[in-house]
Amino acid sequence: MSDCLLCRRPLRCEILDLGVQPPANAYRAPADLNLMEPHYPLKLMLCPACGLAQLSALVDPGTIFREYDYFSSYSSSWLRHAEAYVERRLAERPLGRDALVVEVASNDGYLLQYFVRRGVEVLGVEPAENVAEAARARGVPTESFFWGRASAGELRRRRGPADLLVANNVLAHVPDLNDFVAGFAAMLKPGGLATFEFPHLERLLAETQFDTIYHEHYSYLTLTVARRLFRDHGLTVFEVEELPTHGGSLRLYAALADGAPPVSARVAALLAREEAAGLGRPESYAAFSQAVARLKLELLDFLLTAKKGGRLVLGYGAAAKGNTLLNYAGLKPDLLPAVADLNPAKQGKFLPGSLIPVVSPGELAAARPDYVLILPWNLAAEITAQLAMVKAGGGRFVTAVPGLKIWP
Ligand SMILES: [Zn+2]
Repeated sequence: MSDCLLCRRPLRCEILDLGVQPPANAYRAPADLNLMEPHYPLKLMLCPACGLAQLSALVDPGTIFREYDYFSSYSSSWLRHAEAYVERRLAERPLGRDALVVEVASNDGYLLQYFVRRGVEVLGVEPAENVAEAARARGVPTESFFWGRASAGELRRRRGPADLLVANNVLAHVPDLNDFVAGFAAMLKPGGLATFEFPHLERLLAETQFDTIYHEHYSYLTLTVARRLFRDHGLTVFEVEELPTHGGSLRLYAALADGAPPVSARVAALLAREEAAGLGRPESYAAFSQAVARLKLELLDFLLTAKKGGRLVLGYGAAAKGNTLLNYAGLKPDLLPAVADLNPAKQGKFLPGSLIPVVSPGELAAARPDYVLILPWNLAAEITAQLAMVKAGGGRFVTAVPGLKIWP
């Protein structure tokens, strides 16, 4: 049995067992196909002591993030989200001439590029060297290291404190949350602002988004847990917003506790809602695990019926969440012969576990599928627009989460 990532007490309460799976971003090159593929248990647990939902087993982050195929800039809706954030920051609180903006897990510079265009000094911190290189190529200064108390303290000695710290969709990837959050307190200027975005566990449960559970996501946060974690490291969460991104996210606004702005009523209201939903209690998760099991049966039923009827179903979007779904359902190329993706780095490779080949969107369209199963359901609107030629050829779109849906 492992211990809680936050409070170190033994983890006893299992919420959901998704079987054994390979890391969701470990795409296989053709040369890997004759090699053994590592699999690890994928189980969601709840710590009843501190309320943190988390995986039972941690795959070493050095293994997962050293080479990483996820480039944020491949999603146009995510780019618009980032640009709107930057515009709002600059409008609400102008940054001084010598201000420094630091983004932790800055990926390929998808967000900081908009600060660069407005003449603001930025630094990206991105542990995956190949992704950091892509950011530098687009003119976003980026360093490659793992964020924490010591590395942030060292950065502050070199560069001075940050006026604005940004961390989007990274807390879940962090094995040592205490050390990671301490880094923000170490780097933040007095009077400065830190914002954090992460998928909200409440939405994950309410909308059966179990496929956002994979080995890179060690933990699944609520405002209740995050606020206490930040407080433990001298940061006050004074504002919260609910966002539609990634199926429903929170954006927290934090400042150094000493001199923090007053805490908004929205923070108290959301804390009360989480308490009422029982997110810290294992018994609140029963309906969720039943919905996950039902979703798998619906998807298999659809694919088997299509196959028996001679219909071709192909997938779209070789994203991590798709791999959780495909491997939990036990799918192989016989029922889903290929998955298309816009990212050329993934084309020609094979999805981990299912070993379904990744093709280009052009190859998908040329195969004239009867149905396209859209795996990144959070981008479904964007993807159906990209694949207008499939619809023109008589193909239809299908999503599996939160339940099987054949699009009109
Ligand atoms: Zn705990």
